[in-house]
Amino acid sequence: MLKTPFITKEKAEEIIGQFPTPFHIYDEKGIRENARKLKQAFSWNKGFKEYFAVKATPTPAILRVLKEEGCGTDCSSYAELLMSQKCGFKNPEIMFSSNDTPEEEFRFANEIGAIINLDDITHIDMLQRVCGIPETICCRYNPGGTFSVSTAIMDNPGDAKYGMTRQQIRDAFLRLKELGAKEFGIHSFLASNTVSNEYYPKLARILFRLAVELKEETGVHISFINLSGGVGVPYTPDKEPNDIMVIGEGVRQAFEEILVPAGLGDVSIFTELGRFMLAPYGHLVTKVIHEKHIHKEYVGVDACAANLMRPAMYGAYHHITVLGKENEPCDHVVDVTGSLCENNDKFAIDRPLPKIDIGDILVIHDTGAHGFAMGYNYNGRLRSAEILLREDGSFVEIRRAETVEDYFATLDGFWDCI
Ligand SMILES: *Cc1c(COP(=O)(O)O)cnc(C)c1O
Repeated sequence: MLKTPFITKEKAEEIIGQFPTPFHIYDEKGIRENARKLKQAFSWNKGFKEYFAVKATPTPAILRVLKEEGCGTDCSSYAELLMSQKCGFKNPEIMFSSNDTPEEEFRFANEIGAIINLDDITHIDMLQRVCGIPETICCRYNPGGTFSVSTAIMDNPGDAKYGMTRQQIRDAFLRLKELGAKEFGIHSFLASNTVSNEYYPKLARILFRLAVELKEETGVHISFINLSGGVGVPYTPDKEPNDIMVIGEGVRQAFEEILVPAGLGDVSIFTELGRFMLAPYGHLVTKVIHEKHIHKEYVGVDACAANLMRPAMYGAYHHITVLGKENEPCDHVVDVTGSLCENNDKFAIDRPLPKIDIGDILVIHDTGAHGFAMGYNYNGRLRSAEILLREDGSFVEIRRAETVEDYFATLDGFWDCI
């Protein structure tokens, strides 16, 4: 697979003429086409809905595009709930899949009609005390152990802080029923960034069997099963992307085999994808401002880990294209660095790239999800602007860059203290 940017050098220069680097840019066309494909892949399920994980890209213009494509939102904090509400998402288009949840967030989620997904059995009493148990409620399941597909271990639910044990989810359903809940959902997130068409079908089988058992054990009406996030994207160019049509068909087969015979053929399938919905449709665009030749070769850019934390935090690979040099040989091995006083502030380490000159524009790929969103202000670095590339090729700023006044705003009134 070749990774081709969705903007050309000419387009990038045109945009930079108006909005200086660094910035994140999103491809509206790609986002819409992908969202439609997801919907099509699950069109066999009458109640299917994608609740976009707001944490991946908490930007109103992006949420509106997804809303137009029929998506809801998945939130886990007050600010995310408020953003969803301000963007016009209404009951039942908001899922509240939080953990370690403060009381007032349960209260607000309930007030705006979000579907509450309880992370723990002890949250039942808190919810009851704070706002009462809503008619529709969801519980998050954690089977423990490891999660494997074929023989490869994909993740370790046993080490994850989320969800309830098998015994707890049964007890939780019984208690919630006693307290008046009528419609039940089951949620689980067992592996992150899976680049495999087998993850969702395998997870679906686990949750569908659980649903059949819980229905028998507790007599509750299960109305939806939330497969959550975790469908990934190939960050490296050598990997095949997931085929969402194959994934949808795999889940359909499990549905026909397990849920339909158990009289659960009316269950709605929900997803809470973040990365799969947005990652490939975002670029971080940055300009080369330095080259440095010491014990290694360095290329310094005007973005830093404050704009994209994944490489520093996880050692994550993000592909880089030097605009205008797409066809030149990658015969220079360099580290691409930002300006933080942290040696992990590197977008690439020992990366073969074409010969780079000062002033070159770099596209850092797959930053549409968990990119801008994880931004922070270390070293007094400011968050960048976000730009939306429209389907007709025009572009619009959808969030301005932070200014030093924003950075100082929380200090207003504190300059002369002590
Ligand atoms: C992070 C998260 C998601 C989205 O995960 P992706 O890997 O971006 O698909 C969905 N649901 C919950 C509860 C999450 O915490």
